[in-house]
Amino acid sequence: MSLRIVVLAKQVPDTRNVGKDAMTAEGTVNRQALPAIFNPEDLNALEMALQIKDRIKDTHITIVTMGPDRAAEVIRDAMFRGADDGIVVSDRKLGGSDTLATSYAISQAVKKLGHFDIVFAGRQAIDGDTAQVGPQTAEKLEIPQITYAESIVDASENNITIKRRLERGVETVRASYPVLITVHSSAQKCRFYNAKRLMAYKNADIQMWNAADIEADDLRLGLTGSPTKVKKIDSVVLTHKDNVALEPTDENMDSLIKELINAHIIG
Ligand SMILES: Cc1cc2nc3c(=O)[nH]c(=O)nc-3n(C[C@H](O)[C@H](O)[C@H](O)COP(=O)(O)OP(=O)(O)OC[C@H]3O[C@@H](n4cnc5c(N)ncnc54)[C@H](O)[C@@H]3O)c2cc1C
Repeated sequence: MSLRIVVLAKQVPDTRNVGKDAMTAEGTVNRQALPAIFNPEDLNALEMALQIKDRIKDTHITIVTMGPDRAAEVIRDAMFRGADDGIVVSDRKLGGSDTLATSYAISQAVKKLGHFDIVFAGRQAIDGDTAQVGPQTAEKLEIPQITYAESIVDASENNITIKRRLERGVETVRASYPVLITVHSSAQKCRFYNAKRLMAYKNADIQMWNAADIEADDLRLGLTGSPTKVKKIDSVVLTHKDNVALEPTDENMDSLIKELINAHIIG
């Protein structure tokens, strides 16, 4: 018994540690000032895949990432933790892709891999923040999806039972394969590197696929394949006068709430 698992992982700028140089004067992200990291919820997704591999020994885990050549780093990182291999989908034609074009390219890559049982994704990437790529990929693969996964209740050769984290509680659902599962940050953190795997894979060659390799229709990639148009980006920089320090007293809380209601910030 064995399963074929694909984990979608994105390399993202570390937007949780934004310093004063994080934005350029034009309002775009200064990628030099923000280190590139493994998208946090994709690590939760990888851990869930590894837990299945712990239970079902011959399970094979492939990482798929779309991005520039350096995105191969997330694949090596995943291999240090227990993944088997990975593919970087990279092509200039992919530049400017919105979530529709991104999920199309990713779904083409997953199809190209051949048989699979489960595709795991993070719920959301910390840079784009849309949480659309997982569900859109499931639609393009024409497979069911389970979102907001928090833990595995059971996994067998034919189906998986998942606990989902919802706003007001939890839900337990079962799906047969193939299925796409997006994983919530409340799921278990990913295990750390294994020293032997780190030595074995630190210089591993990672396979690169371009648009032709995934048999993509060029019209569905990049800006031409992206109906989303960004009209304007504002860079909001808080100045000193936007910050107010208050003693934590009931009177101060009351007056703050009134001020926020009057300013229509809350209501
Ligand atoms: C008009 C427009 C132009 C854009 N142009 C650019 C551009 O030029 N360059 C650029 O870098 N971005 C660009 N973007 C951003 C790009 O659309 C998003 O980075 C991308 O579509 C993923 O969306 P997200 O970050 O919201 O991911 P989410 O939907 O929040 O991600 C959910 C999950 O999907 C998976 N996933 C998402 N993206 C990837 C990926 N690339 N590889 C593997 N798994 C993934 C991960 O598991 C992730 O946790 C543009 C967006 C728009 C709207």
